[in-house]
Amino acid sequence: MVRAVDVHKAFGPIEVLRGVSLDVKKGEVACIIGPSGSGKSTFLRCINHIESFQRGDMWVAGQEIGYTRRGNTLYEQHPRQIARARRNVGMVFQHFNLFAHKTALQNVMEGPVQVLKLSRREAAERASDLLERVGLGQRKNNYPSGLSGGQQQRVAIARALAMQPEVVLFDEPTSALDPELVGEVLDVMKDLALGGMTMIVVTHEMGFAREVGTSLHFMSDGLLVESGVPTEVLSDPQHERTRSFLSKVL
Ligand code: ATP
Ligand code: MG
Repeated sequence: MVRAVDVHKAFGPIEVLRGVSLDVKKGEVACIIGPSGSGKSTFLRCINHIESFQRGDMWVAGQEIGYTRRGNTLYEQHPRQIARARRNVGMVFQHFNLFAHKTALQNVMEGPVQVLKLSRREAAERASDLLERVGLGQRKNNYPSGLSGGQQQRVAIARALAMQPEVVLFDEPTSALDPELVGEVLDVMKDLALGGMTMIVVTHEMGFAREVGTSLHFMSDGLLVESGVPTEVLSDPQHERTRSFLSKVL
């Protein structure tokens, strides 16, 4: 479903991704952990091509996204082609990024109306169903300021799902939440995973990674230095850098 091959990304002289490869099959939940500045967010952003990169290939749902390769040369795709491929990818951020002047329902309707050209009625039905699904059936008409952080993040998840993506990327979705609100968001993510959604999750929630993740990847200094079954990576890390990181967070 997502296949990254040897992705290299630099900001000016600073190499942030130094050859990242990752293969995530349909229905898998790949969790990525690693220290601050190691390139986790940058890698996620390369998957839906919010961020360009200099070398490598990125495939989502069977389509190459961002570039078309001819021999050894990458050609950037037409923005319209990129936009089309990007529709397969949902994204949930640390800071929910909801529209403050729109209700929960309007936030979730926005993409389907603007991008998918659904009628307002169809979009409202879809949004309403999704808000029920994330446990916010009673909060549809609240503005973000009238919702807790956990509720706002659940709206953000419903908003991503409203586009019916093939894969959802989560960038530290619970890091900005008060501890007592983390569980409700992880529960929604777990349900989504059980429903068969393909997910790539950057997280510090090792319990989630262990329980829900199908693979766990440790990123350090622009490389995935260790990948494996979550329980194995967590209990018996092979790489010194993974051991040292885990000893600080577990
Ligand atoms: P965190 O855990 O703090 O979110 P991260 O693993 O997500 O960290 P990134 O945000 O991907 O790390 O950043 C990786 C490196 O790239 C950092 O050194 C950062 O300063 C640099 N970087 C990120 N975005 C830019 C940018 N737009 N311009 C220049 N450097 C950038
Ligand atoms: Mg980050």
